[in-house]
Amino acid sequence: MSKAKKSEPELMDKIISLAKRRGFIFPSSEIYGGLNSCYDYGPLGVELKNNVKRLWWKTMVQENADIVGLDSSILMHPKIWEASGHIASFTDPLVDCKKCRKRFRADHLLEAARALKPQYLKEEPKDVSELKCPECAGDLTAKRDFNLMFKTFMGAVEDTASQIYLRPETAQGIYVNFENVQQSMRKKIPFGIAQIGKAFRNEITPGNYTFRTREFEQMEMQWFVNPKEADHWFEVWKERRKNWYLALGIKADNLRFRPHAKDELAHYAKAAFDVEYNFPFGWKELGGIHNRGDWDLSRHTKFSGHDFTYRDEAAGESFIPWIIETSAGADRAALAFLCDAYTEIDGGRTTTTESNKEMEVVLRLHPALAPIKAAVLPLSKKPELTKVAEDLLVKLSPHFMTAYDEVSSIGRRYRRQDEIGTPYCITVDFETLQDQAVTVRDRDTMKQERISLAEVAKYLQDKLVL
Ligand code: ATP
Repeated sequence: MSKAKKSEPELMDKIISLAKRRGFIFPSSEIYGGLNSCYDYGPLGVELKNNVKRLWWKTMVQENADIVGLDSSILMHPKIWEASGHIASFTDPLVDCKKCRKRFRADHLLEAARALKPQYLKEEPKDVSELKCPECAGDLTAKRDFNLMFKTFMGAVEDTASQIYLRPETAQGIYVNFENVQQSMRKKIPFGIAQIGKAFRNEITPGNYTFRTREFEQMEMQWFVNPKEADHWFEVWKERRKNWYLALGIKADNLRFRPHAKDELAHYAKAAFDVEYNFPFGWKELGGIHNRGDWDLSRHTKFSGHDFTYRDEAAGESFIPWIIETSAGADRAALAFLCDAYTEIDGGRTTTTESNKEMEVVLRLHPALAPIKAAVLPLSKKPELTKVAEDLLVKLSPHFMTAYDEVSSIGRRYRRQDEIGTPYCITVDFETLQDQAVTVRDRDTMKQERISLAEVAKYLQDKLVL
């Protein structure tokens, strides 16, 4: 038995192929040749991503009396993006190859070139102007800033006065609603506002599958604090965010926190950490924890004229609240969970004869994340068995997502469920007709237990704790 190594270059191809074949993720607009870096979540993918979002919301909002939710609109007043600094500086440095016309992010090229230094270069390149195109060695254009915000127009007239933006982050919707939420919910600092929603960025170089796309979903919680308590809460939220990923089964070795280097830190940020996951294509950002100081509410005070000063009666002080931001990408989290769960078993485990042994894939997703919680499998298509199986399905489906499969051998059906991460398979066999019980098989241990039909829903609910 051997497990796929995370650094195998072909591992990502296998995961992408599984995701397409088994209905997790499809290329968008596929019949028209696809649309660069856009993806559609299929029937199992939408369950996985909904579970990611639901579990994030549960931890943040449901289980935390000091955090409330929000769903602000994607289209917002354009002045918001002036205040936030996005119009002036939400840019990536861009260079084009004059020969092959490929487009690159200058900072990514520099990073890659610097990584070569120990082996191949005498001196680190200081600037992208010292580099050539990595694809064809052609000359590169001078670096220029490219704004990542998608523009559109509101109303019938397409002029600069009607120009608005698709939001590049969900956070601003939270900041501008700070007082609405605080007053309507009678919240006292410290408290948080959580939001999940779509964000759009016209990324120069999208890629690595769903890791970097131009349309994606963010899960952000902004925690408003007394400036004196900001450092304390920064540490608290770092710990809590790490524990969320670990509790949902991410292997500790594949998760790390990386402090932002001085030149990465936004000019207003007091401290920032990236949460990184060891993807098959390397360590990459899943989310971040940022101490944003009073930058956001001060800027909105300045640009809107609305004073966000908060009166802390307990402390006898007035101040503009500081913000500890925790941000995460729903798509990146779903991809990390998928990669972490992907396990290959050489020679298989469901076949017994040497002649038909083959490599099997098990998606060891945490049960709470698994798209399907239980599959009902009648041993044969005989009506007396399928009737019991269908009745059982009706009993289980109000409680959690179920599947039904009566096609091909039981071993093959187990494998199909293992491959999509279903934690429990329930077999209805001929004995069921006598003892009114079924066999429940555990995906990971392959242990089988005989459970009475009357108790199977309760048995699974106790095990699943969603
Ligand atoms: P990166 O450095 O990877 O471009 P970022 O630091 O710009 O990310 P933030 O602005 O902090 O990202 O956004 C918060 C989160 O939103 C990210 O941690 C990530 O999970 C998600 N996110 C950002 N950009 C994208 C994208 N293009 N595709 C998918 N998810 C994204």
